[in-house]
Amino acid sequence: MILPVRRLTAGCLLGVALAACGTAEAPQPRPRPPAPAPPAVPVPTLAAGPEGLTPVFTNGPRTLGRAVALTFDADMTADQGPRAAAGEHFDNPALIATLRELKVPATVFMTGRWAEEYPAQARGIGRDPLFEVANHSYSHYAFTPDCYGLPTLGEDRMREDVERAFTALRRAGVPNAKPYFRFPGGCYDRKALRTLGATGVTAVQWDVVGGDAFATDADAVARDVLDGVRPGSVVVLHCTRSAAPATESAVRTVVPELRRQGYRFVKVSELIGAAAGRT
Ligand SMILES: [Zn+2]
Repeated sequence: MILPVRRLTAGCLLGVALAACGTAEAPQPRPRPPAPAPPAVPVPTLAAGPEGLTPVFTNGPRTLGRAVALTFDADMTADQGPRAAAGEHFDNPALIATLRELKVPATVFMTGRWAEEYPAQARGIGRDPLFEVANHSYSHYAFTPDCYGLPTLGEDRMREDVERAFTALRRAGVPNAKPYFRFPGGCYDRKALRTLGATGVTAVQWDVVGGDAFATDADAVARDVLDGVRPGSVVVLHCTRSAAPATESAVRTVVPELRRQGYRFVKVSELIGAAAGRT
């Protein structure tokens, strides 16, 4: 299926530091009970496949109106730390700022390594209700033997890599990463689906390739998206300046045009919910 080895990270926002204000409180006669936890919001997922295989979601229903999900992969491979230290930008704060400015809900598939490199941005995205964060592995290594030249994870390390990513996201300050997983490079096989079955994730692919990986022509990226989108589509793009420098500019073209065509932007969870019959 798809494309280029996205090896970068996506980035996102400027660290929106939510100031924790220390407020002085009046003395109280007795300790206040802890605030009740907010009610758990059920997260739509797909049912596991036969033999417990990880379910794979590609796009939402075609018949429930013009909804489209833009997804952004925040790529950073486990061995790219030295490149980041040397000044390469695996993030893309301007892209996230533009999504906020245009009020576009989006789903960010973040690698654990990216969250470690950019914890303030990970936290800012993870705590912004405009976005949802999901798992793009810890290492961004491949889950199949031949996947755009990515290093390959052994079968015995696949589950650990996914769980390590959830841990890294949580430690970075992402409170509720969704139980959705995007395979690095989109590469998977039956063995990978079987191995990840115990993690409970829903694998999320796409039906529209934005073509932004390594692209420098924003108009071409926008055309790819606009030509491909149908009701229920999931569009894959990237959130990383170094490997996808034209994405933010393309989004500025794509968003108003799709809105003109009557589309509304939704997160992947909404499409999965619709597909699962929980509209
Ligand atoms: Zn990726």
